[in-house]
Amino acid sequence: MNQYYEQLLPYLERNHAYQAALALFSWDSETLAPLSAAEQTATYVGILSEEAYHVLTCDEIQHLLKKLSSPKEQDSLTVSEKAVVRLLVKEYEKLSCIPAKEYREFSELCAAAHPIYCRAKQCGTFEDFAPTLEKLIDYTRRFASYRAKKGEDLYNILLNDYEEGFTTDVLDDFFTKVRDALVPLIKKVTAKNDTINKDYNTGYYPPEIQSGFCRFLAGYLGFDFNKGVIAESEHPFTTSLHNHDVRITNHFYDDNLESAMFSLIHETGHALYEMGVEDAISGTPAGSSMSMGMHESQSRFYENMIGRSKEFWEPLFPKLKDTYPDELAHVSLDDFIAGINKAEPGPIRTEADELTYPLHILIRYELEKEIFAGNCKVSDLPDLWAKKYEEYLGITPKDASEGVLQDIHWAMGNFGYFPSYAIGSAIAAQLYDYLTGRMPLSDYLKEGNLVPIREYLRDHIHKYGAVYPTNELLKQVTGEDFNPDYYIRYLTDKYTKLYHL
Ligand SMILES: [Zn+2]
Repeated sequence: MNQYYEQLLPYLERNHAYQAALALFSWDSETLAPLSAAEQTATYVGILSEEAYHVLTCDEIQHLLKKLSSPKEQDSLTVSEKAVVRLLVKEYEKLSCIPAKEYREFSELCAAAHPIYCRAKQCGTFEDFAPTLEKLIDYTRRFASYRAKKGEDLYNILLNDYEEGFTTDVLDDFFTKVRDALVPLIKKVTAKNDTINKDYNTGYYPPEIQSGFCRFLAGYLGFDFNKGVIAESEHPFTTSLHNHDVRITNHFYDDNLESAMFSLIHETGHALYEMGVEDAISGTPAGSSMSMGMHESQSRFYENMIGRSKEFWEPLFPKLKDTYPDELAHVSLDDFIAGINKAEPGPIRTEADELTYPLHILIRYELEKEIFAGNCKVSDLPDLWAKKYEEYLGITPKDASEGVLQDIHWAMGNFGYFPSYAIGSAIAAQLYDYLTGRMPLSDYLKEGNLVPIREYLRDHIHKYGAVYPTNELLKQVTGEDFNPDYYIRYLTDKYTKLYHL
């Protein structure tokens, strides 16, 4: 092993220990921690973040990264070691320009924002959260400006933190395609929406029974319960301490069958990615913070391409009917498949169907762009939000909790994250097209055999963690760059057929 890389390892380990502790606090806050723990937790999170900051920005790390970036030392590094160095340099450049005190203040603010956000959302009062949001935006803007080159767009800097290479130019082009193709398609679908009845979805579904079925589904998809756990939280999410400790959450509504089932399939898609990371890179920067778009492509692939297909449900539907014999007594497999694919504009992103989903992201993308271009005030956000929902989806949120407060991302200081969701959906469609030409995917699903699909994804995507940027990995797998045409075609074909347009 390269001597400088070897000297880097203890720092990586210390950093990862702090990151794991932070992830645990975050997991705990979302699942089990009492509300009144938040204030003290925010202090601990601030201290741990500052420690991690010091590990990643100390002089020794700077010295080692400089050495390891030289052509001579690069030659002796493996592909994954190179990736670790590249990702560390990126992180170093991001952090080292922020004064430690400001970094700690920001981490504390993010932790303290959580209960403020939750209360405001509960009451639907944007004004209660607006001052905190303003501070979060100020910090984010200031931090981005510290590393901006002359004339560089601040929003592009934020986007690059989640998705290398997906600049506003690429995304403008992508979202224009999405808008031009999908807004008219959604109008046509909405006009024919009464042709699909999904009343079954709103029967009485006891949470403990849902929880049992979801656990079964997770195992069916390949979730390894020796390496992972499932808990409950307000919003389902996945977190990973390392590849042997992957945690997902779910949320159960007793009057909604689909919500928890499809959240579970989605989060399991994320979990399989995390569990599939190679041991050699788990716990390093290349094994913990993957490309968000690629990550989301896996959850979307499982949720939509697999989880909403008839073939997937063929072997499973009898079990689902047995689980809810009264509610589903008169529902056929075809009714159910039409129901789980029904597209209906609604105000909530996380409850959105596959067709309207990217419009929710488009709206957030357009707003974030405006915020960081300095074109919109925080106090204007609820109105702008409502206007865009009216324009693209033909609906108006009834209050802020259904509108601008519905997502937690901004409250966590995550700006520039949302586009990854749409990029992920588009990549999922591209991968799906590729995989159906490569393997008898439908047959596997009908047989209830998900192993070959999971193994293919693990061997070609998951095991690499964050070693390759999204586009590079996608090209490595499919032979083609990111191409949103697959996504547009997939949605157009699917919904034209489903609604006989
Ligand atoms: Zn996701």
